Amino acid sequence: MADDASFGGARAWPFAPRLDQALRARASVWASCACGRQAAIDPAPWLGQGLARQRLGELETRLRCLCGSRRARLEVRGLSEAPPGASGGIYIFR
Ligand SMILES: [Zn+2]
Repeated sequence: MADDASFGGARAWPFAPRLDQALRARASVWASCACGRQAAIDPAPWLGQGLARQRLGELETRLRCLCGSRRARLEVRGLSEAPPGASGGIYIFR
């Protein structure tokens, strides 16, 4: 089982960041669906469920998109990378 220490601090994002790692930095969590929608995700519901230590990849199936997709890819982006305007349509389902 991989140890978190192997990530070696705040270099590039680890391959599979945990939710709390994503939130600790000046970053935001984004979801993108195969249909092209992208949305900033407010992880408050997940934090409320005690999922802060989940890997983002394990949370992807908890997302739903307006196109009907039952998963969306999660990624961490710097705050300055947020695309202006057109976003939304992906939300936390559970
Ligand atoms: Zn979609």
